Amino acid sequence: MIQRIATPSQTKAILEKHDLYAKKNYGQNFLVECGIVEKIARHAVISDHCAVIEIGPGIGALTQFLCEYAKKVIAFEIDSRLEPVLNENLKDYDNFTLIMQDFLNTDLEEYIKPLCDEGYDIVVAANLPYYITTPILFRLFEYGETIRSITVMMQKEVADRFGAEVNSKDYNALSVITRYRCDVLKVCKVPANVFQPKPKVDSAVLQFRFHKEKPLENEALFFELVKECFRQRRKTLLNNLGNYLGNKQKAEEIIERAGIKPEARAQSLSLDDFVSLYEVFI
Ligand code: SAM
Repeated sequence: MIQRIATPSQTKAILEKHDLYAKKNYGQNFLVECGIVEKIARHAVISDHCAVIEIGPGIGALTQFLCEYAKKVIAFEIDSRLEPVLNENLKDYDNFTLIMQDFLNTDLEEYIKPLCDEGYDIVVAANLPYYITTPILFRLFEYGETIRSITVMMQKEVADRFGAEVNSKDYNALSVITRYRCDVLKVCKVPANVFQPKPKVDSAVLQFRFHKEKPLENEALFFELVKECFRQRRKTLLNNLGNYLGNKQKAEEIIERAGIKPEARAQSLSLDDFVSLYEVFI
């Protein structure tokens, strides 16, 4: 019978065996509930020919299920202490590759292009540390259309923000870019007591499913424009865009031609407004 990693006793035994403790600065909260882990893996692996990129495998709780469901798993882990642990815990899976690297400094193309050339459906799965949830998602959303979906666990509070409406305090550049790139599905809520150590807050698993079509020619420019419009939230669109362009008059012309009031703030603009702005801008 397969020994599951995601149980309280097995996690404790692995940590003790390797004389390890969970590092706070890497956001380490290990999942110790097999049912939840299996659910994430089942949602993440969307086809019979799936390659999964996992961010932060920890001691391998989720990785183990991903290796069983997917054709290939490439996991990126920043904490060098976990290299021998992962190699030992996952030695029975020949479809597993471990890259000891900060995911934020990874050249994604180097790993994704070969998978693409081999015709895999490429997906991302992760139980993300709170401190890098937003930069990681920005990075993946901006990466391009070769990733089919991202299934991630994050703090419930952060997950709730993905449903933020225009004009609400949580509506930001990531909300706009998310809406543009994908549909968001709530997979499940996760109570704090299924982690070791137990975090202060509950979590949730979301799945981002990328749209197939790419409606805008220069997406990098669109993403930059959206971020610049939100740069200083309290400032008007005219101020932020004027600073970005270094020319307030030109900014005013663009905003007016897009049918938006110059005194508007970024948080009052819908995705369609941002697209209109981009179309005038290019
Ligand atoms: N996947 C494991 C689980 O569910 O039990 C561990 C999840 S733990 C919340 C987050 C993991 O991400 C840790 O193993 C941590 O070391 C790793 N991590 C943190 N920052 C990272 C980064 N920039 N790049 C890659 N891994 C990172």
